[in-house]
Amino acid sequence: MSPCAGQNANQDPMGEIVFQNTLSGHKEPFVPLHPGQVRIYTCGPTVYDYAHVGNFRTFVFQDILRRFLRSRSFQVIQVMNLTDVDDRIIANAAAAGVGIREYTEKYIEIFLADRLALNLETPEHVVRATDHIEDMVKLIEQLTAKGFTYESGGSVYYRISKFPRYGQLAKLDFAGIQPGARVDVDRYDKADARDFALWKAPKPNEFFWNTRIGPGRPGWHIECSAMAMKYLGETLDIHTGGIDLVFPHHENEIAQSEAATGKPFVRYWLHAEHLLMDSEKMSKSLGNFLTLRQLLTGGIKPSSLRFLLAAVPYRSKLNFTEDSLQQAAKSVERLRTFAARLRTGTFPEGRSPMAERSVKARQEFEEGLEDDLNTAQALAAVFDLVREANIAMDGGEFRHEDVLAVQQTLEIFDEIFKVLVGDDAEKLRALGLADSAAFGDAEVEALVAERQAARKRRDFAASDRLRQELSDRGIVLEDSRDGGVRWKRK
Ligand SMILES: [Zn+2]
Repeated sequence: MSPCAGQNANQDPMGEIVFQNTLSGHKEPFVPLHPGQVRIYTCGPTVYDYAHVGNFRTFVFQDILRRFLRSRSFQVIQVMNLTDVDDRIIANAAAAGVGIREYTEKYIEIFLADRLALNLETPEHVVRATDHIEDMVKLIEQLTAKGFTYESGGSVYYRISKFPRYGQLAKLDFAGIQPGARVDVDRYDKADARDFALWKAPKPNEFFWNTRIGPGRPGWHIECSAMAMKYLGETLDIHTGGIDLVFPHHENEIAQSEAATGKPFVRYWLHAEHLLMDSEKMSKSLGNFLTLRQLLTGGIKPSSLRFLLAAVPYRSKLNFTEDSLQQAAKSVERLRTFAARLRTGTFPEGRSPMAERSVKARQEFEEGLEDDLNTAQALAAVFDLVREANIAMDGGEFRHEDVLAVQQTLEIFDEIFKVLVGDDAEKLRALGLADSAAFGDAEVEALVAERQAARKRRDFAASDRLRQELSDRGIVLEDSRDGGVRWKRK
């Protein structure tokens, strides 16, 4: 639909878009570097486990962002990385007796399927770190040529004292920290405690790549700099991620990229706030997290989840409770019922003030999203319209010609929020969740093996979570005294 469709061509509802930029600390008008095109980089998941609902909050925000920009006729080019190599992946794959690629493949498939269940569009480029080792090596070589690195024990480190702007994103002042001061405990020999590894030497019997800068594997931060610039150029429009990535990950991405190119790396940094689980931050290290599948298996509809994750503006903390999920389900139901009433109802000929009212709602909806994606304000505009239209329908005042006008506003809403189509059952079936008996022996064995690996490395949070996940699917575990385990169906 043309963004300017409607009776009031002179009353264009499209205003200026502003985003809260973490770098400047305030709202700024959004103007992309290349007219008509927006280049976005998104830090994707580390694929060694199921993504949890806190991760999906960030991914839903990114989806709202790209859909909104496209509704404003921008061409969106988004890159999302998949971190398919790190300490845990190397250890877990070795424990499972498979290669890194094989180990991560399963979690990548799960992640992409989970995204579809939440109506998340697939970014234009979804790229694996292990396919870009050469790009990372090149970038490290560039940094070395400019004197930003040093080698120690076979690893290559970034020398932060060479980059005076370090700390600008996280607003940290490092001036008082002496080089060499031990501000964190680390087993590597670094010249300065702040320095971080670009390239890590292999530990004995560990998987590694043989490269021009020696054997080893990339650090996490260099992955994102190399892949972002490869696909989007040296300066990106928008970089997104969860707020916990600001420091050190994004600070390090800036240091690496800007030292290598001498140009600004990112123009707008957009960070999504934490998701709180009954008022506590949800994170893997705390163990208080729920995977998407646990929620869906527990009877939550994909549309309720998407709605809840989208409804709270991304810069605000989102308190994830049973109650908020139920409210979200009711809201989606309300919208779907209203859309059906518009489709199937018969109304007297003519036109009422509701047609104009829907144009105003549309304008308020756009104003909400223009203001740093204030989804709460945008939704309030739509729900006000629904309430007033329902009252008009009940009172016999709603007219035939109002239908199209209100439908247009709903369509524009749903291009962004994507909850109106009642396809929850299909989504569950696509994930194989509608019938829990579809959970086969091979999948049980795989989860049991993973739990054993977690116990071995004394990761009890992961072990307990996997036990719970199996229990949710009707599998009971019996640990034996010799450290082995048996399982049976309840
Ligand atoms: Zn990243």
